[in-house]
Amino acid sequence: MQVDFCPGGTLAVKEGDRVVPGLNRVIEAFEHRGLPIFFTRDWHPADHISFRSRGGTWPPHCVQKTPGAEFHAGLKIPKRAVIISKGSSSDVEAYSGFQGTGLEQRLRGLNVDEIFLGGLATDYCVRETTLDARRAGFSVTVIEDCARAVEVGPGDGQRALAEMRRAGARLSTSSEVVKLLVSTQQ
Ligand code: ZN
Repeated sequence: MQVDFCPGGTLAVKEGDRVVPGLNRVIEAFEHRGLPIFFTRDWHPADHISFRSRGGTWPPHCVQKTPGAEFHAGLKIPKRAVIISKGSSSDVEAYSGFQGTGLEQRLRGLNVDEIFLGGLATDYCVRETTLDARRAGFSVTVIEDCARAVEVGPGDGQRALAEMRRAGARLSTSSEVVKLLVSTQQ
């Protein structure tokens, strides 16, 4: 959920900022339960391999320490949340939060076996993170109203959701997830 992926950013996802309120409700519920919260972010060098200047697919985005790499200003980021930076080497692309970040080890260290996730964009980082999480054996719930797709090709978002579901991910909504967290509270 970074500035460059939201409307006005260099790689804006349509209505990307609309997912912030739903994410915040889920974050608050996790915070209330004392459950682990992770934020992943693109953290690219200025000459990142995914940029068009280097023959990549994307305009420059989320360059380390620039305003575009900041998290959306409306996003609630609890103090104890863990920030995971990815794509921080010039020559390596990383759509997945698991790629080269040590995220899997961090989660296992916290005895996490189930992940709830949302963000931008459904057809790239959400998709790849979900597929990697399933490969690693985690249960995954994608919070559908908390994600939006880039849609380089029309239908990419729906295709990504179908692919994640085929990989064993569940699709849910922020209100369902919050309800679940409240109802299972001891
Ligand atoms: Zn990127």
